[in-house]
Amino acid sequence: MTFSFPESRTPIDHPEKSHIIAHLNDEHGDEITAFARVLGGIKRAELDKNIANQSNQDEQIKLFDIYAEGFEVGIANSAPLFIAFPQPIASFDDLQTQYILLKQKADKALGKKSIKLTSQHFTVLSSEHISPNMLRLTLDLDLNPEHPMPTDEAGYAYLFDLKINDSPTFDTSKSKKEERKHVYYTLRKAWQADDVTQAWVDIYVHGDTPAGNWATALQAKDRIQTTREFPEKVAHLSDGQAVLICDETSVPTVARLLELWTNPTPPLIVFMTQHADDQAYLTHHTLDIAPDLSNNLTVLPLNIDPITIDTDTSELATVIINRLDEYLRQTSMQIDKVWGAVEADTAKALRPLLRKRFDLDKSDVVVKVYWRKS
Ligand SMILES: Cc1cc2nc3c(=O)[nH]c(=O)nc-3n(C[C@H](O)[C@H](O)[C@H](O)COP(=O)(O)OP(=O)(O)OC[C@H]3O[C@@H](n4cnc5c(N)ncnc54)[C@H](O)[C@@H]3O)c2cc1C
Repeated sequence: MTFSFPESRTPIDHPEKSHIIAHLNDEHGDEITAFARVLGGIKRAELDKNIANQSNQDEQIKLFDIYAEGFEVGIANSAPLFIAFPQPIASFDDLQTQYILLKQKADKALGKKSIKLTSQHFTVLSSEHISPNMLRLTLDLDLNPEHPMPTDEAGYAYLFDLKINDSPTFDTSKSKKEERKHVYYTLRKAWQADDVTQAWVDIYVHGDTPAGNWATALQAKDRIQTTREFPEKVAHLSDGQAVLICDETSVPTVARLLELWTNPTPPLIVFMTQHADDQAYLTHHTLDIAPDLSNNLTVLPLNIDPITIDTDTSELATVIINRLDEYLRQTSMQIDKVWGAVEADTAKALRPLLRKRFDLDKSDVVVKVYWRKS
């Protein structure tokens, strides 16, 4: 099925193709590697042998090209592999669905939880500010026994439709360019009591933006919907000294990680905010951390000048490393694991800096993109 090249492949000529290939290599390299291993039939030992002793192991497995029938993936010291889509794509817009299907297949084979394309409906119960720019929605999930909401996972995210009671909240007549119609938000916490499943979703409201306007307009009894959901990559944090790096968009994930923390070593946290007042998020009375952990927790606040956000977000990577260094100079702490979620250019610059600074493998440094400066 996927082990050899199909006799005929249909090349795709689309203005976004090279951008998508670069994005998949930069942000989803671990998934491309998983496709090569699990769906391309390349054995782990063979892969390890081929990429061993290469100066830059990140460059050794790369998506080369996208055809209507599948992906061509290049592997160091091997012939390229062809990973067939479950269904050939008729238009470039179909690529995302085929990618998700490949990911579901690979995750299933690896025994991992995967992205789900399920639709869920929620009713808004209330909304309140828990720090000046962080809005908490309390939501009630429609009973759906086939797709329960996970109550014990940190960073589990849903893709919300920016509609309220089925009406779009964005005004297409005003939009200068394509405006966002969906947005990812994390379950800050979900719980089940009797027959109801409820959750908090904490939203950073940063000016006049499609998702911020949607969130602030929501009122009790409004109906909202999600169309996709996926788990966060946090399994590597179960042991060792971890560093968690978050901003306002990813601090809900960190808050839940702390509530569910079972690793005997407390993590070190870098918390960036564009407004110093939002540092209060991590001391809010609803944060329910075990006393042993909260007494031994170190949070390094990092107040970011909004001008930096408007100029070069990749510079923030150096600011973060310097903040960590400033603290680590006073301790004998060795860092084993990193989880973070930040802006796209910051993430891209930060990953290699962290791996070099702490001498870590790629699999121990998970830095996700939670938002993109435009
Ligand atoms: C898996 C996942 C989970 C997430 N969970 C959460 C969550 O729980 N809570 C949460 O608040 N966010 C979360 N996010 C981030 C959220 O999806 C993005 O911030 C999203 O871009 C917000 O949409 P928007 O309409 O406000 O802004 P956009 O339409 O993306 O952008 C509008 C403008 O705002 C700017 N902008 C966007 N985000 C920021 C920012 N953070 N700071 C400064 N300027 C910004 C852009 O540069 C642009 O100019 C998550 C993202 C992912 C991928």
